[in-house]
Amino acid sequence: MSADRAILHSDMNSFYASVEMMLDPKLRGKAVAVCGSTENRHGIVLAKSELAKRAGVKTGMVNWEAKQRCKDLILVPPQYDQYLKYSKLAHEIYYRYTDLVEPFGMDECWLDVTGCEIYGKPLEIAEEIRQSVKEELGLTVSIGVSFNKIFAKLGSDLKKPDAITIITKQNFKENIWPLAASELLYVGSATTKKLASYGIKTIGDLAATEPSTLKYMFGINGLMLWRYANGTDESRVMQKDFISPVKSVGHGITCTADLDNEEEVFHVLLELSQDVGHRLRVHGLAATGVQIFVRNKSLYSTQYQYKLPFKTQLPSEIAAAGFQLFKEHYIWTEKVRAITIRAIDLVPQTTEEQLSLMVDYERRDRRVQLEDAIEDLRRRFGKKSLTYAGLLGNLKMPDDGRDSVRMPGLMYQ
Ligand SMILES: [Mg+2]
Repeated sequence: MSADRAILHSDMNSFYASVEMMLDPKLRGKAVAVCGSTENRHGIVLAKSELAKRAGVKTGMVNWEAKQRCKDLILVPPQYDQYLKYSKLAHEIYYRYTDLVEPFGMDECWLDVTGCEIYGKPLEIAEEIRQSVKEELGLTVSIGVSFNKIFAKLGSDLKKPDAITIITKQNFKENIWPLAASELLYVGSATTKKLASYGIKTIGDLAATEPSTLKYMFGINGLMLWRYANGTDESRVMQKDFISPVKSVGHGITCTADLDNEEEVFHVLLELSQDVGHRLRVHGLAATGVQIFVRNKSLYSTQYQYKLPFKTQLPSEIAAAGFQLFKEHYIWTEKVRAITIRAIDLVPQTTEEQLSLMVDYERRDRRVQLEDAIEDLRRRFGKKSLTYAGLLGNLKMPDDGRDSVRMPGLMYQ
């Protein structure tokens, strides 16, 4: 067995709300909620301060309900540029110790500090990071220190704010196993329910379950959960400068007849996205951004792009993002002649991602399975074998890709 690794997971506490309070002293010591829309009663709470949390304000709650729970609640709109700035500044502090820094959302990072003894022991590095973030940025972090990513992440949740928790091979059974199974990364509500129906309530229960039973229940993911619970997950902290060799994957066409409504545009985007999704799969990549390029009947071209809140290989999600862009930007003074859709800002499909509130992961998992099946059938029996109902009928697209313009698409560095 190889030597123990030293992994830190640093989590910036109540990140959005903390940045707001640091920037505006008037907000300090108050119940603050960052809301998508502060004017609109139906805006939702994106983040809240510790005081707001104690008053019962929850992320995802509608504004008026949050106000009801906490009368003095101050609503502020988000300033994403500031969050991004402070997220980057925190990353710079982490890079003082290691190049192996893997972000998980804007406010969390794993650091692999194995072999960084010149900077001190893992616990000392964690302590220095905690202090530097506080002194230099005026923000607090909680840090988990462990021998794998999963326990490091759990550790950062155990004590906060402004705290460090160490989980070792000697103490994890005592400290981690009594916790609810739902505390483990990727154990969502449906998984929790299913586990409970088998009497598996704690992480310890999960660790003691036969791997074959878990495999029967959840497929390959069941084995992953078993490894997580037993502290044997070996997934690595990803390199700082990972850049995909493939820069973008795109597919475009000139339509056989001009498109004259949004529905036709959507269907063409969906068909093009099938190909984009297929090529992402072949390369083991996922998009974190989507770009569209539209040319109208007068051959005037425009291009728009959008950063996705998650990574995806799914044709339906790529098409939906492209269509959203189109609806927001295209002005119908002319019919549409040509469209290209590209998956951009590519990352490896295996990258773990911050679970976002905006996404129903269990529903999304089912869709991934469905689209995997569609992809497989199309690969084996051809593009026409199976498709969305919306794609049947006259698509105004060149037949079966024969005349389609393959974009320079796979651009290698
Ligand atoms: Mg956080």
